[in-house]
Amino acid sequence: MFLLFSCKQEEAIEKQPKLSPEAQLAKIQHRIDSLENFIAKQPILKPARVEANYGLFQTLQSVGLDLKQSLKIINTLADTVELGTLRVGQTFWVGFDQQDTSKATLFRYAENPATLHFLMMDSADEWAYKIIEQPVNVRYAMYDGVLKEGGNLYNTLRDIGIPQNMVGVVAGVLECRVSFRTDARVGDKFKILLKETRFQDTMWIGGQVLYASYEGARVKRSEAFLYLEADPKSSFNAHYTEDGEALIHSGLRYPLDRLHVTSGFGNRIHPITGKKAFHNGVDYRGAVGTAVYAVAEGVVVQSSYDAISGNFIAIKHADNSQSYYLHLHQRGVKNGQRVKVRQVIGKVGNTGRSSGPHLHFGIKQPNGSWMDPRSKRMIATPKLEGAKLAALKEQIKIIRSALEKTEAAEPKSIGDTIQATVKWVEAK
Ligand SMILES: [Zn+2]
Repeated sequence: MFLLFSCKQEEAIEKQPKLSPEAQLAKIQHRIDSLENFIAKQPILKPARVEANYGLFQTLQSVGLDLKQSLKIINTLADTVELGTLRVGQTFWVGFDQQDTSKATLFRYAENPATLHFLMMDSADEWAYKIIEQPVNVRYAMYDGVLKEGGNLYNTLRDIGIPQNMVGVVAGVLECRVSFRTDARVGDKFKILLKETRFQDTMWIGGQVLYASYEGARVKRSEAFLYLEADPKSSFNAHYTEDGEALIHSGLRYPLDRLHVTSGFGNRIHPITGKKAFHNGVDYRGAVGTAVYAVAEGVVVQSSYDAISGNFIAIKHADNSQSYYLHLHQRGVKNGQRVKVRQVIGKVGNTGRSSGPHLHFGIKQPNGSWMDPRSKRMIATPKLEGAKLAALKEQIKIIRSALEKTEAAEPKSIGDTIQATVKWVEAK
């Protein structure tokens, strides 16, 4: 149980002027009344647990919310919270009115132990959004690794103490610099600097790979730096070399500059019909009119309209895969037209069967099957230039200074399950 409203402590009775026993009794009765009143207004809380193949919609319905209320909650929340990927077992709390037990008056979502999102019904029966963030500890932690005989990269990363949630991300950054299948050798060295966020020192909240370096028998020393823009959802947020070269050399760019996923790829519950369906792409939230880019060079094979997809465009690429862009407000290219990578091909819209302005983006493989677009490595740009490059240089200075401070720290041993020593300093 958690309380949303704190009762103001009244002055202790002893400090008040002497009251008659009747007045004291009346005062106590008044307190009991207001406490009862307070309790009567508290919502009845029910846990809404995500089950296999559940979307948020299905999860809300499982505790008795009707279609209208569920959609209202999802739409209010989608502006601020990314709910495209739910974990089985994840639990939301829904509060119901004590008098009208079918009416939801509270919704609570813990993004992590320190970040709570609330929706509360106000007196005008509208949802009001509130976020509660607890103070967290942020530190820079440095992990030194050496490839050992018979050890693969993932095991090596775990052995040197990289937190479990970061192993995949760290491996992804390193794999951009080194082909581990062909070029990695026993004795190769690497260094990782993480910015780690923890709650009450122990609970993992999140991490970023600020820096990675690799040096080996067949690979000359190379470094990677994290570049971040003010918008945490900017598609330019990625790892680059000191000269601003993007680490990922795939030709694919993002279809939007800002990536707020509202629905992922795969089986889900349709937000409108409530029926189970296969979602053959990714939904990115975007305001009507936002530029949509071609993710690679190609030829427009469809530029048309239908009742479900709305205005849509399909582009065929050199490898015979096709990219799809649905629900567009405007289409800017014609059938048969050649398009360049990152050419603006249309504008985000809300046409066809769509519950709000968004881009549905899909990739069809040459064999005709849909793939999860997020499993393709995409980049915003192959090279940062101008103001972005200058900003990267500034961020590299900060990262280098964090590296120096961390390098100078005493190594501390960590964890009970792994034997590793790590250097870290608090980030200010
Ligand atoms: Zn979609």
